[in-house]
Amino acid sequence: MTPVLSNETSAKRLYHKLQDMLGDVVPDFELKYKAELAAEINRLKVEKNAVILGHNYMEPALFHSIPDYVGDSLDLARKAATTDKDIIVFCGVRFMAETAKILSPTRTVLLPSKKAGCSLAASITAADVRDLKEKFPGVPVVTYVNTYADVKAESDVCCTSSNAAAVVESLNSDTVIFLPDEYLAKNVARETGRHIIFPTKDPRNGSASELDYQMIGWPGRCEVHEKFTLDDISSIRRQFPDVVILAHPECSPEVVDASDFSGSTNAMIRYVEQTKAPRYLLLTECSMGDNIAAVNPEKEMLRLCSVRCPHMNQITLEDTLASLEKNQYVIDIPEHVLLRATRAVERMIAIG
Ligand code: SF4
Repeated sequence: MTPVLSNETSAKRLYHKLQDMLGDVVPDFELKYKAELAAEINRLKVEKNAVILGHNYMEPALFHSIPDYVGDSLDLARKAATTDKDIIVFCGVRFMAETAKILSPTRTVLLPSKKAGCSLAASITAADVRDLKEKFPGVPVVTYVNTYADVKAESDVCCTSSNAAAVVESLNSDTVIFLPDEYLAKNVARETGRHIIFPTKDPRNGSASELDYQMIGWPGRCEVHEKFTLDDISSIRRQFPDVVILAHPECSPEVVDASDFSGSTNAMIRYVEQTKAPRYLLLTECSMGDNIAAVNPEKEMLRLCSVRCPHMNQITLEDTLASLEKNQYVIDIPEHVLLRATRAVERMIAIG
């Protein structure tokens, strides 16, 4: 999706355009208020020579009004790496803002809320990775970008949900350590034809050369995607037999199996835009359904909105305005961590 309103500084024009796109999902008085905030943000970002990056999970009024670029983590990481602006405001969560800093270390990177964390990123520490490397010496470490910079620094290469299988294949290694998402690891293992174990449940303490499996995982989970179940899918299919169901690879392998398509947020958007089905259901953060529907009004999107990401939802237009006004919250990464994390992230970007 391409943002169309990011240069608009008239609150009145913004309000009318947002009303056209979101009039069915956002109450009118809220759109008016949000249009005023968005207009001020768009004015200020020019004054401060800033660029705003917006993740696909941002709430619809923010998503369609202020980001200069929208997309998934990989897209936004690439944009961060090539920007010539002084300031990057990241409308996403902390690990994403850190990745932007890693790829653009001379820029000021701002995250509008201190509370925008992530259950996956919080599931593993740098010490955990060092322990695994000690236990499985010489085995390359692939780390999902949904981790903090010090964990990336312990890794050989990062990956996103859109390139995870390609990154694993690129290593040409019989065994890899794949961290920290349990379900993504299982889905990638299946896609690449590998066996997987989780070391905490493995009774053996053998060296890598004795392993009869090829992927070593970690029991981290996304608190949004782990909640979707087979019951959700059968209940929706009973009610809407012609629905096409798309699942993010952070969902369990059973849920991915029972869906019609699985891919990163960008791959899901492309799929909806390029196919013609009576209705779609996205098993991912609920805002994305609204964001797709706003620019594809002819597509019917069903939503399971009882499941929301509490971290992504911390990013509001109010906080983004305060972020630009007060230069907060600045992302800082210690030099020794930054240098090592850069290697892992740049290696991923080179793979594609
Ligand atoms: S949706 Fe899941 S992986 Fe993404 S930020 Fe929220 S908790 Fe983390």
